[in-house]
Order: sequence, then structure tokens, then C-alpha cells
Amino acid sequence: MHHLIPLPAFQDNYLWLLHDGRDAIVVDPGDAQPVLRFLQQHQLDLKAVLLTHHHADHCGGVPELRAATGAAVHAPAAEALPAAVGPVLALDDGERIELLGIGFELIAVPGHTAGHGAYYAARAPGGPLLFCGDTLFSAGCGRLFEGTPAQMLASLDRLAALPAATRVCCAHEYTLSNLHFAQAVEPGNADIGRHLERCTRLRQQGLPTLPSSIDLERRINPFLRSRLPPVVATLAQQDPLAADEVARFAALREWKNGFR
Ligand SMILES: [Zn+2]
Ligand SMILES: [Zn+2]
Repeated sequence: MHHLIPLPAFQDNYLWLLHDGRDAIVVDPGDAQPVLRFLQQHQLDLKAVLLTHHHADHCGGVPELRAATGAAVHAPAAEALPAAVGPVLALDDGERIELLGIGFELIAVPGHTAGHGAYYAARAPGGPLLFCGDTLFSAGCGRLFEGTPAQMLASLDRLAALPAATRVCCAHEYTLSNLHFAQAVEPGNADIGRHLERCTRLRQQGLPTLPSSIDLERRINPFLRSRLPPVVATLAQQDPLAADEVARFAALREWKNGFR
């Protein structure tokens, strides 16, 4: 029996922790304290840290966690990490590791950062599992700090092609504001309205809207839907010069950057 826990941190981060009642792994621990508290409360042994990218809210807690637990730290080989993170076990695109008896594959998803990676477990108990950092959010995607729109579109295409039942563990609780943007992009999409109602109730109760699923994201996420006719039509009004799918995706990301 595995347990999947989103530990809240900072304003809106989730530090995803997976454990089997004895051993644990954690993804993107920007802060060590919530992780150490949880490990102590549940008497868990931290075996490994998985990093998706170099931003401080994702790897800032690594030195303290490493000192306290001796956990191994895995990271995408293509990502340049701060020196303070220390030595990591670098994973190339498609490389696999086994943690808690589960196989994880590194999927290279450049765009938000140059070497951003996601971790995918096809045969995790309870169904396929994806830790996607700041690449895919529910109803949204990460900002393009280091990569190009073409890279991000290709990265999201890879994630969207995973099995429909894949549980999607995003690193931030951005769902409500993303859904407001999604509604502006696709006013006629009833799935978006229904999910907005559901997530509004969850947030009123202080509950996470995550994990999402690949199936749900294909239905509500404008960044996975930028080639569909209603979205293409809306983007043609936003940016009449956007002539191909990459330019339209770039126009969509630009629109979101300024959306309030
Ligand atoms: Zn980031
Ligand atoms: Zn982040």
C-alpha cells in the first residue's frame, strides 16, 4: 500500500511525498521542514529526493534533508542545479530508476527551464503516476523562463500522450486561476465550468485540487488543446499574425502571462 501526500509549502507549492509505511521519497523539496515533520510523525525513512528543475522553491530544502536523512538525490542530467544542492545521481531522458519497488522514468520536458525533467511511473500501485514539476499545471503550464514555445509544446505533447488514467502531480496550486483563463479561451467548454465549480468547493474547504489526471487535462487544459478548432479560432483573434501551431501556442502563453 502506497500513500501519495501533497505537503503544502510556501504560498502555493506542493512537495509530493510517496511512502509505503516505512520508506519515503519526496519530489522537489523547496523547504525541508514540512518533509522532516511528516517523516517524524509517521516514522518514515527518506530514501530519495527527486528534483525536476533548479528553482529554489523546488530544491532549496535539499542540503538540510540530505544532512538529516542521507537520502540520495536524483535530478535530470540536462538541468544546471545550484552548487548548494551538492552531488546528484543524474538521469538522462528515458533513463529508469527503482524507488519503493516502483520503476520511474525520467522524461525530458524543457521549456520552463532548459533541462526540466518529469518522473513517470507506468506501473505504480493505484495507477500510473507523473511528477511534472512546473511543466504541466492543472489547466495550465509553466512560464517559459529558459526554453522556447516549440520546446514547451513538444514537452506538453509528450505528457499529454501518457495514459488517460495517469495521476498528475503538479508542483503548484494554480488550478483556480488557470481555470478562469481556460474559460476565457474556451467559453463553450462545459468540462471547464464543471471542474471550476468542483475546485472552488475544494479550495473553500482548504483541500488540494490535485492530483489531476491526463484524461482531465486533455479536456480542460488550453495548453494541451491549442490545435483544436475552437482554440485556434480564439487565438486567431488574439494574434492574427500567429500562422502556425508554435506561434499560436506562443500567443496563448503570452495571453496567459498578462491575464488577470
Ligand atoms: Zn520553476
Ligand atoms: Zn515552482
